[in-house]
Amino acid sequence: MVSTSAHAPNSPAPHGIPHHRVAAIGAGPANLSLAALAGDVLPHDVVLFDRRPAHAWHPGLMHPGVRLQTSWIKDLTTLVDPRNRLSFLNYLVTTGRVYAFLNAQFDAIPRLEYDRYLSWAAEQLTSIRYGVDIRDVRFAGAGEGFVLYDEDGPVATSDHLVVGTGTRPHVPDCFRDRSIPGVLLAEEIGEHFETCRCAPYEPAVVVGGGQTGAEAVLALLSYGLREIRWIGRRPWFAPLDDSPPANDFFRPAYLRHFQALPGQVRERYVAEQILTSDGVSMSTLQELYQANYETWLSEGRSPVMMLPGRDVVEAGHQDDLVVLRCRRAAGGHERHTARHVVLATGRRPAPLPLAPDVLDLEPGEEPYVEADYSLRWKHADRHKVFVQNRAQPSHGVADPNLSLLSVRSAAILNSLLEREAFPIRDEQVQTLWA
Ligand SMILES: Cc1cc2nc3c(=O)[nH]c(=O)nc-3n(C[C@H](O)[C@H](O)[C@H](O)COP(=O)(O)OP(=O)(O)OC[C@H]3O[C@@H](n4cnc5c(N)ncnc54)[C@H](O)[C@@H]3O)c2cc1C
Repeated sequence: MVSTSAHAPNSPAPHGIPHHRVAAIGAGPANLSLAALAGDVLPHDVVLFDRRPAHAWHPGLMHPGVRLQTSWIKDLTTLVDPRNRLSFLNYLVTTGRVYAFLNAQFDAIPRLEYDRYLSWAAEQLTSIRYGVDIRDVRFAGAGEGFVLYDEDGPVATSDHLVVGTGTRPHVPDCFRDRSIPGVLLAEEIGEHFETCRCAPYEPAVVVGGGQTGAEAVLALLSYGLREIRWIGRRPWFAPLDDSPPANDFFRPAYLRHFQALPGQVRERYVAEQILTSDGVSMSTLQELYQANYETWLSEGRSPVMMLPGRDVVEAGHQDDLVVLRCRRAAGGHERHTARHVVLATGRRPAPLPLAPDVLDLEPGEEPYVEADYSLRWKHADRHKVFVQNRAQPSHGVADPNLSLLSVRSAAILNSLLEREAFPIRDEQVQTLWA
């Protein structure tokens, strides 16, 4: 393993707080995969901290019927360690649901089932400390490693860090500076519509043409709203490209090819390939179009108006309504007023909880991510800082997704152990990308 500090694993550090070989911040799928794989190769050496009081995966975005966009075979462990006890298959078998699950014949599994699986896996792991919000990480010096702080002070020290703090909703500039009554995030829909008494024909707008936007429209329909406008920037509400060649971008062989490309080419490829990751599932689009058509059959009026090719550039408030000004791709502007405006405008990586002097970056500068997902910094030879789910520019379009979770965790563990504890095999490749 990469050289460690003078502390024995999990022994009290000088401050009287526990010391860990590896402190992983966040216990979402990314670090759960790391912990699951570490069970056999680094037992007791990887500890996860999560600010939540208990496991939860994107709460607020679990509307009835929503589906995973990824095969369940791409679970926390299977692609690199199919015999791992925390595989999805073992979850199905040990919870007694495997036959019912198979007979349900899902093309795509419910997101709720994936959440249950994550929760089951988290319960098996004894290495998660919930309710610890890591506000800051400071470097105590070579040989000493990192000190992790929550709001009350230091909580642990570690030789290495794995940052798996995920993403948070992106709010466009025109909504950012002030709070406008009636504007909410997609993950607040349940809370908002379960408590507000809304009349069906109160106008609502969903901003954002991706999967979360489509699911938000369906959720508003299920809350009885009948005057919904769906605004997206792209010229059409584009489906996810789930074809075999698109899925080639989600395999280790392509990852290796991508990492060797010049930066400008990588940037262009990520932009060109984005619909293999950020498009709307075909089944969701069909459900939405069919619901719109069937409501017209039964109620004489389609409840959803699709408005692609629009960019919301101004937001305000007038007479108890939200007022939006949109720039149209076809030219000119238009105005929309609504009682409720749901923002489904994408997500961005949460800020790194590291003291600015640790990485010694210029303001706004992004750290360089090495092939093993560690950040380039001056003490990287003794103290690694790995990042999960924030290396799309260097590692490709798959990085923010669940598809290669276990492959990324395996690469991190192989690097920590300085040996190929998890061989990453992808040899049957029929595509020559360049
Ligand atoms: C609704 C939704 C559905 C998705 N569905 C799919 C899908 O079907 N297929 C797919 O490939 N991808 C999907 N994604 C994309 C992606 O795979 C998920 O966002 C996934 O959860 C990312 O995992 P993560 O562990 O990196 O981050 P997260 O799941 O966001 O987990 C991060 C964790 O870190 C904790 N945390 C953050 N900051 C701190 C801190 N300072 N201290 C302590 N804890 C902290 C949080 O509480 C959280 O538990 C989806 C995304 C969303 C939003």
